[in-house]
Amino acid sequence: MSLAKETKRCPFCKEVINATAVRCKHCHADLSEATGKKPTRFNSLNTFRNGFITGVVFSAIVALLIYLQCSGQ
Ligand SMILES: [Zn+2]
Repeated sequence: MSLAKETKRCPFCKEVINATAVRCKHCHADLSEATGKKPTRFNSLNTFRNGFITGVVFSAIVALLIYLQCSGQ
């Protein structure tokens, strides 16, 4: 007699929970980061930073073009 379900222990309250659970049913702790799949948030942060840098560079180029047009006359 064995249980087919995979289980693990909650790192916070040490109760047995489903291995694929992202939230502990006993203490309601968020386990999504404890499962070892961290890149999701990091990637979105990276995308945001890249977009920010692109915006800054684009603004700088536009400002430079305006400056050159004004000083050219
Ligand atoms: Zn827990």
